[in-house]
Amino acid sequence: MITGESLAARLRDLDEIGVGPEGVRRLAWTEEDAATRAWFERQAAGAGLRVERDPAGNLWACPDLEPPWWGLGSHLDSVRGGGRFDGPLGVACAFEVASGVAPAIEAGEARPVAVVSFADEEGARFNTPTFGSKALAGRLDLPALLSRRDDAGVALGDAMRAAGVDPDGIGEAPRWLQRLAGFVEIHIDQTTELAGAGEPVGIVTSLAARTRLEVVLRGRADHAGTTPRSERRDALAAAARLIVGAEDVSASDPSLTVTTSRILAKPNAPTTIAAEVRLWIDARARGGFDAIDAWRARLDGVAADLAARSRVEIGLSVASRSDAREFSRELRASLARASEDVIGHPAPEVVCFAGHDAGVLAERVPAAMLLVRNETGVSHSPAEDVDLADAAVAARVVEDAVKGAVA
Ligand SMILES: [Zn+2]
Repeated sequence: MITGESLAARLRDLDEIGVGPEGVRRLAWTEEDAATRAWFERQAAGAGLRVERDPAGNLWACPDLEPPWWGLGSHLDSVRGGGRFDGPLGVACAFEVASGVAPAIEAGEARPVAVVSFADEEGARFNTPTFGSKALAGRLDLPALLSRRDDAGVALGDAMRAAGVDPDGIGEAPRWLQRLAGFVEIHIDQTTELAGAGEPVGIVTSLAARTRLEVVLRGRADHAGTTPRSERRDALAAAARLIVGAEDVSASDPSLTVTTSRILAKPNAPTTIAAEVRLWIDARARGGFDAIDAWRARLDGVAADLAARSRVEIGLSVASRSDAREFSRELRASLARASEDVIGHPAPEVVCFAGHDAGVLAERVPAAMLLVRNETGVSHSPAEDVDLADAAVAARVVEDAVKGAVA
């Protein structure tokens, strides 16, 4: 039986890897990443599974039976200063399920299970989120990515080679995915939604649609003291108004979440009016692109107004865009039925506003996600807080669904 204690035992040695006063740091293609691989290999050996590393560096713990298999898992990399659960919780739960269903698989009563740990899910080092799952889905724009550099100037391609993965082979990765009949990811809730509802687990219906805008504001560098107001073309003051405007025009639509998360100013000097500002605005919506596009149209109006008033050129362009991703109805229904067995009622359905490997795989194979209650709602921080008894509930739900789904 899967319990909080059995999960705690699995997670225990991971706590030795890349943990410092600022939290967990296990960036992709580093020594810490390699240390998590050794953990994965020990877990696989314990579950009687054989480890493969696919051409994108994803780790697979495979059964000795013919595919198709159920894929279960998540990721072991982290952001800088992350928490213990974002990623590892899903991998540890996957090993619990794989071990739990082993007797049923041997008896031919359940489909074989493989555990997957995706490479570079967070993208914290090279800004390449869900790298491994995108490689499996055949969705990486490789030449452009491989020359990306980290803060130390190391190119992604070189970092991968140093970690033992030849990036030239990545085009072959989609063949590995063909072995899966479906994929289920268990993940920490990154909100207080489940905690607020008093529910240990939730079934994700879809991932929110997302657009990232890049905005360039061009004014004129000039003296901070001597330039009269009528002659100023202050790109930073206009940027400030645009940031507030972007939020204000989102307020009428509760399905939207808008964040200006990054800003660069030039020349960024204390006594010079800013000549150029670049900023990035992230907009997500529960339904799909309609709400985001309507918001963008209102934002274009704000920008046009502001440009005229401030004599600053403002250009907005789409840096990236991904549509809402609905998870498999069939898998969601089987998770809902399984949750009735485990907690006595169907787990609630939730929409997830973060990107995940399961969302990428959902383009190619039936996929689903189960979230585990997080009392603080905080993630990407040491304040992540999961009661492992709740995670055991999630794993038991998946175990039950995996056993039922083959019949
Ligand atoms: Zn994660």
